[in-house]
Amino acid sequence: MRIDLHTHSTASDGTDSPAGLVAAAAVAGLDALAITDHDTTAGWEEARAALPPGMRLVRGAELSCVSPDGRGGHCTVHLLAYLFDPEAEAVVREYARARAERRGRLARIADLMAADGFPVDAESLLAAVPEEATAGRPHLAMALMRAGVVSSVDEAFARFLSDRGRYYLPSSRTPVESSIEMIRRAGGVTVLAHAFAAHRGPTVTGEVIKDLAGVGLAGVEVNHPDHDEDARKRLRRLADELDLITTGSSDYHGTNKVIALGQETTAPEMLDEIARRATGVPVVEG
Ligand code: AMP
Ligand code: FE
Ligand code: FE
Ligand code: ZN
Repeated sequence: MRIDLHTHSTASDGTDSPAGLVAAAAVAGLDALAITDHDTTAGWEEARAALPPGMRLVRGAELSCVSPDGRGGHCTVHLLAYLFDPEAEAVVREYARARAERRGRLARIADLMAADGFPVDAESLLAAVPEEATAGRPHLAMALMRAGVVSSVDEAFARFLSDRGRYYLPSSRTPVESSIEMIRRAGGVTVLAHAFAAHRGPTVTGEVIKDLAGVGLAGVEVNHPDHDEDARKRLRRLADELDLITTGSSDYHGTNKVIALGQETTAPEMLDEIARRATGVPVVEG
């Protein structure tokens, strides 16, 4: 059984359409796949309609939030939300707000770069991202690549756009505790994504994860391409101690990243546990 619970489509910053993502999952030999675009459920229907017989789809999303970092400050964290009711009023409102805020933020980053002489234009950049899709830094990175400023999305992040880069602006200030509560009320299950991916930027301490577990966080993503062995070990120990669900996932973004679908996987009993706790929407099978 091969299960990948964190992937992106063109509904946010991936390069495969939702149907293309499902097709790629079949080629990769996956039995179950979660679609977890940033701040949107816009890809759910297309992905579901494309399911081949026997493949299971976990409908989800990834939310950018702000959290105490456990060292007296704050940092960005990403919250994976699974099997919530996509029509819950608070969810619809929050995702629409987050998407609108992201468009403004990406325009501000593009304006900053344009002011420094880079050949990017906020208006045409955003015109290329459909209204119901979620804009993100990879869209700008791809524009920089098309303009010949960089030769890869990775290079755009390394030189300009990473969380430590000179053009970085944070995407959302939604407190992670309220997002956990919002998803819980919508019948969903939350898993903290790549919590100890230190090279991306500041991360939370184990104490913070303990606090989040206390307000309803159900799991942690342990096996993730951005986690080294030490990060995985610490998260596994923490999950043991706090009785949290553990997942493994690729965070596939199509050609935006060099990560393959199914590069990291989740144990079947962990998916069963997520499905058991959810009351929003069910896991669907093709
Ligand atoms: P944003 O959602 O706009 O804050 O941008 C974060 C997204 O950028 C992540 O979800 C990844 O898709 C992507 N990303 C972050 N770091 C890198 C990197 N070094 N190379 C390629 N993509 C990245
Ligand atoms: Fe992304
Ligand atoms: Fe993420
Ligand atoms: Zn992701």
